[in-house]
Amino acid sequence: MAEQRDLYEVLGVDRSADDATLKKAYRKLAKKYHPDVNPGDKEAEAKFKEATNAYAILSDPEKRKQYDQFGHAAFENGAGGSTGGFGGFDFGGMDMGDIFGDIFGDLFGGGGRRGRADNGPRRGANLRARLNITFEEAIFGCEKEIEITLKDTCQSCHGTGAKPGTQPQTCPKCNGEGQIVYTQQSMFGMVRSTGTCPECNGTGKIIKEKCSACRGTGYTSSRQRIKVPIPAGINHGQSIRVRDKGEPGVNGGPRGDLLVEVNVARHPIFQRQDRNIYSTAPITFAQAALGGQVRIRTVDGDVMYEIKPGTQTDTRIRLKGKGVPSIRNKNDRGDHYVTLVVQVPTRLSEEAKQALREFDQACGNTPAPKQEHTEKKKKSFMDKLKETFEE
Ligand SMILES: [Zn+2]
Ligand SMILES: [Zn+2]
Repeated sequence: MAEQRDLYEVLGVDRSADDATLKKAYRKLAKKYHPDVNPGDKEAEAKFKEATNAYAILSDPEKRKQYDQFGHAAFENGAGGSTGGFGGFDFGGMDMGDIFGDIFGDLFGGGGRRGRADNGPRRGANLRARLNITFEEAIFGCEKEIEITLKDTCQSCHGTGAKPGTQPQTCPKCNGEGQIVYTQQSMFGMVRSTGTCPECNGTGKIIKEKCSACRGTGYTSSRQRIKVPIPAGINHGQSIRVRDKGEPGVNGGPRGDLLVEVNVARHPIFQRQDRNIYSTAPITFAQAALGGQVRIRTVDGDVMYEIKPGTQTDTRIRLKGKGVPSIRNKNDRGDHYVTLVVQVPTRLSEEAKQALREFDQACGNTPAPKQEHTEKKKKSFMDKLKETFEE
């Protein structure tokens, strides 16, 4: 017999490991090496079998006791051993579905519970909708209305879908369970799996005569206008929950909710980042140089702001509390940051040009050397100008 690894070593646990530890260790290995996850990988398959074998023995108190006492020799008599199979352990008549069912059930999503007919009350599903609002509506909040199609439990059949006076019958194929158990032969022996009953689609019930009001669906639909309160400070992409405006519940369960996702339009001037607002504001050169009051647009309307003499372009000022309100407390607002941009005039009147030249001279700016001949020209032009005035 080829040498066999110690079973505890295979699972990577102490000899004193309890059931939960064994299960956890095996689950981890099974998930990693399961043939479904590693199709065609012989090494993974061997590892999987080795771990499965170790778990099958160590999870059984009687077999674990034998193994602890005699080691692998405990299982070398009788079935197994040289027949290959699981490295010396025979799975023969065991129902592996019972041993591993719960492990594989939650390992691979199982499907076991999906589709099971449930007669208890269940909450209806949530509905989703989108809503477009303006930048200002997002800042200050508003109330909107949207129109959606809402399902309601059919009043004629009370949601059963069966013609009034009749009752849905229990599905004979699944006995009302909604799912069917399949038993399959696999490399571990018999494995049980479950699937949705094809006869009743998992509802567990068969409707012989349909309700005419709802054509057997159990629901009626209508267009409804729903008020959606938009809280101040909401941001693009956030959702508002309108309670009880989702799908109706099943078997007397509560309705689901309506989740309205908000699309906030871009603003031509303001940008938002979290709870602050950003914008730029033009100021004239004279304002920048001399200082004084400038008019600045905010979401609350225009405000006058006193700038210092000698304000440079791209100076950023903060208007405290002119930003976005907190959704929880609308009096708690962010700030508005304004970048002041000095405008260089492009269309100047002759008068303005002259004033600027004089301003430049007053600042003591001497003309550049290469412009000497133009200086002469300018002088002569000035002289001409003087002459015309003197005439
Ligand atoms: Zn009906
Ligand atoms: Zn069925």
